Amino acid sequence: MDDEIHDTPFDTDIIVVGGGPAGLTAALAAAQTGWRVHFMAPEPAFEDRRTSALMVSTLSFLERLDVWPHCSSAAAPLCTMRIVDDTGRLLRAETVEFKASEIGEEAFGWNIPNAALTHRLRDLFEVHPRITRHNTSVASLSLRDDGIAVVADDGMRVKGRLVIGADGQRSRCRAAARITTREWPLDQAAIAANLEHERDHGFTSTEFHRPPGPFTLVPLPGRRSSLVWVETKDRAEAINALDDEAFAREAERVAHRILGRMRVDGPRGMFPLGGAVARSFAGNRIALVGEAAHVMPPIGAQGLNLGLRDVASLLDSIARCGREDPGSSSVLSHYDRDRRADVWVRVGGVEVLNRSLIAGLVPVQAARAMGLAALRGLGPLRRAVMREGIKPHLSLPTMMRDRDDRRRPLGGERRP
Ligand SMILES: Cc1cc2nc3c(=O)[nH]c(=O)nc-3n(C[C@H](O)[C@H](O)[C@H](O)COP(=O)(O)OP(=O)(O)OC[C@H]3O[C@@H](n4cnc5c(N)ncnc54)[C@H](O)[C@@H]3O)c2cc1C
Repeated sequence: MDDEIHDTPFDTDIIVVGGGPAGLTAALAAAQTGWRVHFMAPEPAFEDRRTSALMVSTLSFLERLDVWPHCSSAAAPLCTMRIVDDTGRLLRAETVEFKASEIGEEAFGWNIPNAALTHRLRDLFEVHPRITRHNTSVASLSLRDDGIAVVADDGMRVKGRLVIGADGQRSRCRAAARITTREWPLDQAAIAANLEHERDHGFTSTEFHRPPGPFTLVPLPGRRSSLVWVETKDRAEAINALDDEAFAREAERVAHRILGRMRVDGPRGMFPLGGAVARSFAGNRIALVGEAAHVMPPIGAQGLNLGLRDVASLLDSIARCGREDPGSSSVLSHYDRDRRADVWVRVGGVEVLNRSLIAGLVPVQAARAMGLAALRGLGPLRRAVMREGIKPHLSLPTMMRDRDDRRRPLGGERRP
C-alpha cells in the first residue's frame, strides 16, 4: 500500500484534517491564500450549541476571510467584563469591571454561537474552487520524503505536501507525527447552556469566581446569554441532571439574580475539563492547530482564539519559508518556534487562575485577591491587561492585524 502511495502524484498542496472551527478556518484561509486544499472530516453528528467569545484580532481574521460580515448578526458585543469574587472566603476582592471604552475600543470581542460561525465557513467551502471536500474520517497517515499520504476510513487516499491536523483532543495527526503531549486531568466539568432572561445584560459579561470554578454569563443578542458553569465533576453531573426548570432556578440563585428570571433555551452540554499541550506543534509534514495542539478549561475565552491564532500564524510561516513546499522542515520549525510563547502564556494563565480558585491555601487566596485589587485600582495595569486581551503582543499574525490598522466597525449587534 505504501508503494502505491509513493507512486501517486500530488493530489494537492495541503490536506486539512478535522471539521471543527479550527479546521474549517484553516482550510478556507489556506485556499484563499492560493493553495489547493483537500479537506477531510466526517459530517458533524450533532450541532455544537456552544458559543465563543472571539477577540477583535480573531474577528479581523474572520473579516478578512469574508466570514464575519455574514454571521455577525448572530453575535453580541462584549463592552464590559465584570469579575465578581464569589468565593465567600475571608480574603476576597471587590468586584472588578473592565470597560472596552477605557482603551478606546467599542468592545473586547463578540460572542457568537459556534453553529453560526461554522455554517458560514461551510457555505464558503461549497463554492471555493480550490477546496475539495471529503466527508470522511482519516484512518492513517504515512510520511514520504517529498510528501505525506492520508488514507480515509473508506479507503480513499490523498497525497499532499502538508497536513494541517485540526482533529481535536484525541488527534490522530498528532500521533502520526509522533508528537506526545503534557496532560493534566482536572476534577472539573463545564456545563454549557443558552438562557433567556428577564433583565438586559447591558452587553456586560459577568464572571462569578467561585471555589469549584467560574460561573460565566456572556451576552447574546436580545435578552439572552450563554452560560459556562464550571463545577466539580460530581456536582456538575448532579446539576446537569436537573430538568430545565430546576436548572434555571439554580442558575438564577448562583447568578444572584442579576439577570432576573431565567429560562433554558435549547439543549445543554457537559464537558469534562483538563489541560494538555503538545510537546511540539509540528513535525513530519504535519502542523497541529486548535485543540490538537492545546486544550484548556473554558476560562477567559481563550481556546478558540488561540486555535485561530495557530492557523493565522501557520500561514505566516508558510508565506515566509514555504512558497515552494508548505510542508518543508523550515516551515514547520518556524511555526513551532512561533507558537510556543503564546500557547504557554495562555495555557499557564488559565491554569493559574483556575487553581487559585480551587486552592484552599490562604497565601494563594491572598495573592489572588491582591491581584484583582491591583487590577481594580491601577489604571495603567488595567489598560495593559485589557490591551493584551484584545491584541496579544507576543504574536499577532499578519492576517489578524487588519482591523487594528484600519479600525473599521465589525458589525454584530450594537449597543443601543
Ligand atoms: C463550554 C466551553 C465553552 C467555550 N467557550 C469558548 C469561548 O468563549 N471562546 C473561545 O475562544 N473558546 C472557547 N472554548 C474552546 C473552544 O470551544 C475550542 O477551542 C474549539 O471548539 C476547538 O476547536 P477545534 O476545531 O480545535 O476542535 P474540535 O471542535 O474538537 O474539532 C475537531 C474535529 O476533528 C474531527 N476529527 C476527529 N478525528 C478525526 C479524524 N480521524 N479524521 C477526520 N476528522 C476528525 C472531529 O469530528 C471534529 O469535527 C470553549 C470550550 C468549552 C468546552
